Amino acid sequence: MIKLRPHHILCIAHYEGKGYSEEFNLKMKEIIKSLETGEEFELVFGADDLCSACPNLKNGICETEEKVNRYDRMTADLLVIGEGQISTKTIFDAAKEKIYKANKFNHICSDCEWSYICRKNEKQ
Ligand code: SF4
Repeated sequence: MIKLRPHHILCIAHYEGKGYSEEFNLKMKEIIKSLETGEEFELVFGADDLCSACPNLKNGICETEEKVNRYDRMTADLLVIGEGQISTKTIFDAAKEKIYKANKFNHICSDCEWSYICRKNEKQ
């Protein structure tokens, strides 16, 4: 089962083909394809399957761990979710209601280097 950290739910929803490396982009596409089939995923707090293909992961820890942990905490709090198995459709629908429509998206990750893409593609 795919492992995802909470804020990657938001990254996946706004992905448009740009990422940290070719390997990262391939992994992102692979994960999106699996989730589109309705596959459930496991929510984890820490490095996940996407991180495993990211050049920023060093010895199992993100180089910007403090920042991404903050994104994870805020996303999980708003969606009221904890570690464990999660229904993909339920969680992406919940993000629409509780984050994008509730205008909370900017509060979570506006200092991310990719935020200009997500704001452009913001889901409503
Ligand atoms: S930047 Fe950090 S949190 Fe984001 S995919 Fe890379 S290792 Fe994971």
